[in-house]
Amino acid sequence: MKDLKKLLQQKKEAGLYRQRRITQGPQSTELIVDDKKVINFCSNNYLGLANHPTINQAFKQGIDRYGSGSASAHLINGHSAAHHALEEELAEFTGYQRCLLFSTGYMANIGVVQALMGRGDVVLEDRLNHASLLDAGLLSGARFSRFEHASVSDARSKLSKYPEQEKMLLTDGVFSMDGDIAPLAELAQVCQQHQSYLMVDDAHGIGVLGEQGRGSLEYLGLAPSAVPVLMATLGKAFGAAGAFVAGSEDVIEYLIQNARSYIYTTAMPAALAEASRASLKLVQAENARRQKLVELIKQFRRAVAEMGYQLMDSVTPIQPIVIGDSKKALEMSQQLFAQGIHVSAIRPPTVEQGKARLRITFNADHSFGQLQQLLDALDVISKKNTLL
Ligand SMILES: *Cc1c(COP(=O)(O)O)cnc(C)c1O
Repeated sequence: MKDLKKLLQQKKEAGLYRQRRITQGPQSTELIVDDKKVINFCSNNYLGLANHPTINQAFKQGIDRYGSGSASAHLINGHSAAHHALEEELAEFTGYQRCLLFSTGYMANIGVVQALMGRGDVVLEDRLNHASLLDAGLLSGARFSRFEHASVSDARSKLSKYPEQEKMLLTDGVFSMDGDIAPLAELAQVCQQHQSYLMVDDAHGIGVLGEQGRGSLEYLGLAPSAVPVLMATLGKAFGAAGAFVAGSEDVIEYLIQNARSYIYTTAMPAALAEASRASLKLVQAENARRQKLVELIKQFRRAVAEMGYQLMDSVTPIQPIVIGDSKKALEMSQQLFAQGIHVSAIRPPTVEQGKARLRITFNADHSFGQLQQLLDALDVISKKNTLL
């Protein structure tokens, strides 16, 4: 048997040990974390909808109408009118023929790739893809290959190696730990030339990018036809939970018949679908939330660059500061925490070795005063630590 104590100790020594902090109360720009009040710069609550009265109200009314549990899978009798309406509204929103709800984004990715790809097929992934996309590719049993981050030429050369096989190229829309946007127009073209599926995971783009909040595709001016399979989650900008896949009539129908993580799991509570329906209305109606984010990001980047920090090429609310060493990143995160600023240190294996970072994320509800407090704290720790 493995010596788990020793393995855990090794993780601690390498600065890779992870600990859960206990929070009190709802998600907001301020949080009580381990009994300390802090300003929160590490949630994916980009639009500030995770505790919005209208969505909370829809959730409560959903419980009154549907109860708390859905009690069975979608294909038995767990597929309520609320789930169905949400799917139709998401199809309308994204411009795809149909959408299919999954209980989590992780499950959506696993289900899609397992259903569409298998032994003898080829799955190609950006090497910085989210763990759930990488796992999906590996679990599908298809031949698995990674291309250099955001490199269209590497994707093209890898695709051209497999002229006979069924192929699927998978990429994040917005990369979760870097905040940059994939070159989707170019990837779409390469995929069409090589008769490969393109699947985009827009967990961090949906709701945040584009005037209507339709995500990376809207931001880049792409039609749904360029991306045959789109996955996005309802637990980040939408402030609820769950995920959906958008595609053609045939893609969705095929997933209903074959995606095991769709078939063999209990449907999300109908009340949660009602909450997401309310969220979708706000996401579309309140572009001011996105404009506020743009302003926060602009001011943050200008100020931080002057302090000598190394920023990444990101226009999104994900604004990482690369530190490099895991222990140093952890230490800096602790120094920020001591000043009342909550920013998490992201370390391997979530990011590559030597690329540990402070992952700062913005929420449209952050005030400019809170931004200033973050900047002041970063200024203090930049003087305490030698930066890369
Ligand atoms: C969060 C995330 C997921 C997983 O979604 P959940 O609904 O949290 O399971 C998938 N892909 C990306 C890029 C993500 O950031």
